[in-house]
Amino acid sequence: MAFLSVFVEALANMRPHELTPLFASLQSLSGIGPRLLLLMKKCVNLPAGITEPRVMDLLWHLPTGVVDRRAEPSIADAVPGSIATLKVRVLKHAAPPRGKSRAPYRVRVEDDTGKLDLIFFHAERKFIERQLPVGEERYVSGRVERYTDKLQMTHPDYIVPPEARDDLPLLEPVYPLTAGLSGKIVQKAARQAVDKLAPVPEWQEPTWLAKRAWPTFDEALQRLHRPVDADDISASGPPCQRLAYDELLAGQIALALVRQNFKNRPGRSVTGDGSVRTRLSAALPFKLTNSQREALREIEADMAAPRRMLRLLQGDVGSGKTVVALIAMAIAVESGAQAALMAPTEVLARQHLETMAPLAEQAGLRIGLLTGREKGRIRTEILKRLASGEIDIIIGTHALFQPDVLFHDLAFAVIDEQHRFGVHQRLSLQSKGGAKGTDVLVMTATPIPRTLVMTHYGDLDVSRLTEKPPGRKPIVTRKLPTDSMEKLIERLRSQLAEGAQVYWVCPLIESSDVSDLAAAEERHAHLAQIFGAENVGLLHGAMAATAKDAAMAAFADGQLKILVATTVIEVGVNVPNANIMVIEHAERFGLAQLHQLRGRVGRGQRESFCMLLYKAPLGETARARLEMMEETEDGFLIAEKDLELRGGGEVLGARQSGTPGFRVAEVPGFADLLEAARDDARMLLAADPMLATPRGQALRTLLYIFECDEAVRLFRAA
Ligand code: ADP
Ligand code: MG
Repeated sequence: MAFLSVFVEALANMRPHELTPLFASLQSLSGIGPRLLLLMKKCVNLPAGITEPRVMDLLWHLPTGVVDRRAEPSIADAVPGSIATLKVRVLKHAAPPRGKSRAPYRVRVEDDTGKLDLIFFHAERKFIERQLPVGEERYVSGRVERYTDKLQMTHPDYIVPPEARDDLPLLEPVYPLTAGLSGKIVQKAARQAVDKLAPVPEWQEPTWLAKRAWPTFDEALQRLHRPVDADDISASGPPCQRLAYDELLAGQIALALVRQNFKNRPGRSVTGDGSVRTRLSAALPFKLTNSQREALREIEADMAAPRRMLRLLQGDVGSGKTVVALIAMAIAVESGAQAALMAPTEVLARQHLETMAPLAEQAGLRIGLLTGREKGRIRTEILKRLASGEIDIIIGTHALFQPDVLFHDLAFAVIDEQHRFGVHQRLSLQSKGGAKGTDVLVMTATPIPRTLVMTHYGDLDVSRLTEKPPGRKPIVTRKLPTDSMEKLIERLRSQLAEGAQVYWVCPLIESSDVSDLAAAEERHAHLAQIFGAENVGLLHGAMAATAKDAAMAAFADGQLKILVATTVIEVGVNVPNANIMVIEHAERFGLAQLHQLRGRVGRGQRESFCMLLYKAPLGETARARLEMMEETEDGFLIAEKDLELRGGGEVLGARQSGTPGFRVAEVPGFADLLEAARDDARMLLAADPMLATPRGQALRTLLYIFECDEAVRLFRAA
């Protein structure tokens, strides 16, 4: 996201001002301070690049259920075991006897039909006295229980005086939470967030809305956060369906606008004489696979065409994308121009350089590196050589996008996304090539199901590397319960003696007071004790970049035998000797993420293993996931299965599984809604390409709401 954060900031100023409160920090809500903000950050789903939760993010934090408090029986009619709201008179208080603080504090209440005890453990006496003054009427809401022959309610969820009756949520939304964050806090904040919604113009077609009986945008959010009917929060209910459609439509329009923009700008025809490619092929220690050849043919044709190229190269980790990228870049160099490769992290940029440099040298390519770490004289020197054309291929990070980085003639750019999922914004990176235009190849190791390619990249051209380079040994994958860890450790001992190396991934813990970091540190200490501190390293996201590099380098050199890591290695480095991947609490990961992690091994000569440790008992979906991992290594198959298993509505799942996150769109009927949105977007833009009609103007608001700001920029610039 760093690529575009500058843009995004600038655009914030152009947002319709009625949306401003929605994009303010959550701290703008009363009751939310820095501490709660941090907790909220843990549980709401933030778009890439956003670090502080905003009011908007809470609006998209949707309830997963409701507590129904609508039953208002008399005490005599209250059903034990059910939630009820009772109107009662307070009779008397009975504090626990002195010295018996474990006994509960009881408050006897009654109505005309009977009596009931309110029970409080570890009660704060003053508080209860204030809440329930003797002789007064109160509404209490909670679970009614029978204890011996008495009716009671332990720790009522709500106690309100008659005049505050309306504060009592009759249908109380239940939100996903995290340790330390109570449902009441989230509810209160969410209601405030809803109140910040100003009316927005309707962007959907009235007949379509009427046909589906969908509410307006504000009403949909109202109903989700203040449900009056259980259907209000159901993923197949009208509010969710409406919002899902909004999100999909925004995405489709944004993609269509970006595409429209490309098509309107001429590109250049880039062809080469094959000379550099011949030298490269000679330098390669292997033959290209058919998939690689096919992808190169497609890329070559795109580059030769007088249009701007925008192609997605998909292939599992290890499928050989890097070589394809290098050969494609060689085409640009043969034509007398330059090429750039952008990696998401510095470590990866360096790794690309290391892989490519020897080949490049043999082929006579001049190659350079530019990341945040190249500073001062070195940087100046690189910039000079880049501007004069003395560098043919530059490899770098987003540092390549700084304004003072000027190319002599950039014809071709490769963007290596690894697993960081790109958003629409990435598609417009080609601006760096100046008036002549730059062809762009986006590489991703995330195998994306076809339906999702369409959602996230639109109709952009796709090449897939479906074949693995020959000679790869299968990765033996086994799930085993955490109880068997000792046996596993014994096996590792013999493997390590034979020179094996192990990645040990620690769980992603949510809703717990232990952070993933603490878990990794604890496991590191444990394994260091068994295998010796000098053999076991630790890698986690909170470490300084240099410390990370050092740990990685020590592992790559073989000094470290075991590398304990949080999921940071997902965007990882190539250590061919590492042949064992242990994943703790594998049941908590999504399929896609497990697949990416497993891809770190199986790169060298040794037989490779992936051990999926899980905590029994396994849920049905988790079991299906782990079994899928045992059965296949085909990333595309796994991706399809992942989508199927996650199904509709599992909004939180998207975040963990590493697949593109939707805010609301994953609902039953997703595929149909998507298709309708795509058709709608096409028709709309055909009739109103500049979004200038009243509906078009309303659609701009929609684009802002779903943060497709880059798309908005395109028609502003036009
Ligand atoms: P990716 O970037 O898709 O993860 P890489 O390009 O890094 O994969 O390739 C992984 C490994 O496979 C590298 O060591 C590379 O040299 C090797 N490789 C690539 N293509 C082939 C091939 N056709 N035959 C044999 N090995 C190959
Ligand atoms: Mg072209």
